[in-house]
Amino acid sequence: MDYQAVLEEVAAHARPFVRQGRVADYIPALERVSADRFGIAVADIHGDVYGVGDWEIPFSVQSISKVFSLALVMAQSHDGHDNIWQRVGREPSGTPFNSLVQLEAENGIPRNPFINAGALVVTDRLQTLTGDASTSMLHFLREESGNPDLAFDQAVADSEAEHGDRNAALAHFMASFGNLENPVPSVIEHYFWQCSIEMSCRDLAVAGGFLARHGLRADGSRLLEAREAKRINAVMLTCGTYDAAGEFAYRVGLPAKSGVGGGIIAVIPGRCTLCVWSPGLDARGNSVAGAAALDHFTTLTGWSVF
Ligand code: GLN
Repeated sequence: MDYQAVLEEVAAHARPFVRQGRVADYIPALERVSADRFGIAVADIHGDVYGVGDWEIPFSVQSISKVFSLALVMAQSHDGHDNIWQRVGREPSGTPFNSLVQLEAENGIPRNPFINAGALVVTDRLQTLTGDASTSMLHFLREESGNPDLAFDQAVADSEAEHGDRNAALAHFMASFGNLENPVPSVIEHYFWQCSIEMSCRDLAVAGGFLARHGLRADGSRLLEAREAKRINAVMLTCGTYDAAGEFAYRVGLPAKSGVGGGIIAVIPGRCTLCVWSPGLDARGNSVAGAAALDHFTTLTGWSVF
């Protein structure tokens, strides 16, 4: 497979979609990013990386961090022996990523780990396991991406905290059902920090390599059992793009996780991990040009899980 040629064709296909969506502004600091950006990278399972466009420019990972927090919790406790799946489900929600509506009827148990409520529970667990959830994630991402310069973006974290009433409400509501182990202010603070990490398409494609390598880290050591990596990929496919997950599976056919920074990572198990970035979002919070690019990538290569 000539990845470089495929990526160039994908980028040409996606260009007209750049600027079609809206850059997220509910976290004011995210708004300063240019809507013209587009980058895409592929890291194969051997660690070779290819990219085009703005693939080396860092952006705010936002909800893509939710994949890594789940992986770190599973790595430290191994599912089956951990209670994380008693505290968060694995069903698509069919509701927006920051929705409150199901929580009351479902006793404070979020539908899945990739909507905000579920991610707050996972961060809470990571906080219990590590004593410093966001820093342990940053260290993991630096190691796994091979980029020691990865950092939090304090302006984004502060901006999100300042406008964080919705996430605070989700956390307090779950705490009222006894579904948080740590104080709400600490859980939401670590969640905002993890969302603020800045990474490029290159960094994210490389750091997500363990999902394509059935749980093996970049250095060959095991992060997750193969069945655990399979489960994360399954939840990405069914829940990783929120209430657009059905449409995304229909168009792209890959496990994927999006963030309101405009990034999307996608996994082709046994082959490679992709990351695409373009800040213009559709109404459900997924990158318009990013989805178009992944759609075209699987069309050109014929690679999907189906
Ligand atoms: N930090 C963002 C929030 O909690 C993440 C949302 C997202 O990327 N979908 O609202």
